Amino acid sequence: MSSLRPSPITPTVDFDRDGVQHGFLRLPYSRDDSAWGSVMIPICVIRNGSGPSALLTGGNHGDEYEGPLALYDLARTLDPKQVSGTVIIVPAMNYPAFRAGTRTSPIDKGNLNRSFPGRPDGTVTEKIADYFQRELLPRADIALDFHSGGKTLDFVPFCAAHIRPDKELEAKGFAAVEAFSAPWSMKMLEIDAVGMFDTAAEEMGKLFITTELGGGGTSRAETVRIARRGVLNVLRHAGIVAGAVEMQPTRWLDMPSGDCFSFAEDDGMIETMIDLGEPVEQGQVLARIHSIGRTGAAPQEIRARMSGLLAARHFPGLVKAGDCTAVVAMLVD
Ligand SMILES: [Zn+2]
Repeated sequence: MSSLRPSPITPTVDFDRDGVQHGFLRLPYSRDDSAWGSVMIPICVIRNGSGPSALLTGGNHGDEYEGPLALYDLARTLDPKQVSGTVIIVPAMNYPAFRAGTRTSPIDKGNLNRSFPGRPDGTVTEKIADYFQRELLPRADIALDFHSGGKTLDFVPFCAAHIRPDKELEAKGFAAVEAFSAPWSMKMLEIDAVGMFDTAAEEMGKLFITTELGGGGTSRAETVRIARRGVLNVLRHAGIVAGAVEMQPTRWLDMPSGDCFSFAEDDGMIETMIDLGEPVEQGQVLARIHSIGRTGAAPQEIRARMSGLLAARHFPGLVKAGDCTAVVAMLVD
């Protein structure tokens, strides 16, 4: 790592200065409409003395809104007098994607959450990943990265941490998830962990939690309320913001294996047979995929490979072969 060149990103904020700073991570990006132009990624630093640091992020995928809504709000309202330590807020990590309202960057098609550890001499998306990897994550004692389903998935609202080899860190992660107090809490299994921000943070030994709070490329009043309460609760839990955690009832879910996930094997029109949060029996038909190219063909049935409840579903009405159609999670009680 030491052979890597410095990041081309220049922060306009000083991470060691007390008070509130609203600034940018300025990433040079020379292009047709701006010869010596830059991508200006908004960042807010709220610091009050020494103490633990939290890195709060949204817009890792550009079409997920609960995190950015909660974090722009927090940056505007959090008083440094309430803080002991440092809160670093980046509400729209992959800012080009966020501006475009797309999961990946319109500049290079980069999925930021598959681009870690990134490269200082790579694409725009890889340069953003590299800056988080080498400059921001090392500053954090706890990282909270907000996600939702984006345009193509919808989730029951949950906060999550991963099963980890270090059981002490795992327990701390689950305690922070409990403090977030979403209606659901998940012991999360990743389908494709290589290159994720989560993986980068965990390999660095950081306390890391994430969310899936809804989806469909929009937000709902309920899920934004959950995000706003959750982020303040996590800061209180971490001892960075004064006051008691505003605990709400949560139910724990587990994703014990790849049997959680179902995928379409044909293109077509999807008919969801059960709704989010409803119980599922192994073998039950979760969805049917209807052929749209001709009449008379029987629909393809997507059956649950395990019992539990429907935690996520494909959102748009049309599916393609290979799309994730449903995710079943197991209720832990
Ligand atoms: Zn996401």
